[in-house]
Amino acid sequence: MDATEKLTKNAIKPDGESHIAIDAEVCRTRCTERYCERVCPATLYEWNAEADRMVVEYAGCLECGTCLVACREDALSWRYPRGGWGVQYRYG
Ligand code: SF4
Ligand code: SF4
Repeated sequence: MDATEKLTKNAIKPDGESHIAIDAEVCRTRCTERYCERVCPATLYEWNAEADRMVVEYAGCLECGTCLVACREDALSWRYPRGGWGVQYRYG
């Protein structure tokens, strides 16, 4: 089984509450690079021009922590989903 096929075996049990919080004001006033949009392997971050804020589709999170490291402005509060929720890796 190759890596791509292994990834299809993973499952995500979405938590009802987000485990990622974004300080929209920091994004709006201090961030010029928006690294979160570029580094998330699941492409969950997207700038919402209408709302003038960054949004994240937390339910698809792979729990890699990359966004937290990449955000240079400390705009993110990140924790793992509650026990029993979130991504379930079958093959690591
Ligand atoms: S990198 Fe951080 S500050 Fe910039 S848009 Fe993303 S969450 Fe906001
Ligand atoms: S932890 Fe990883 S998968 Fe989840 S939102 Fe951040 S970069 Fe994307």
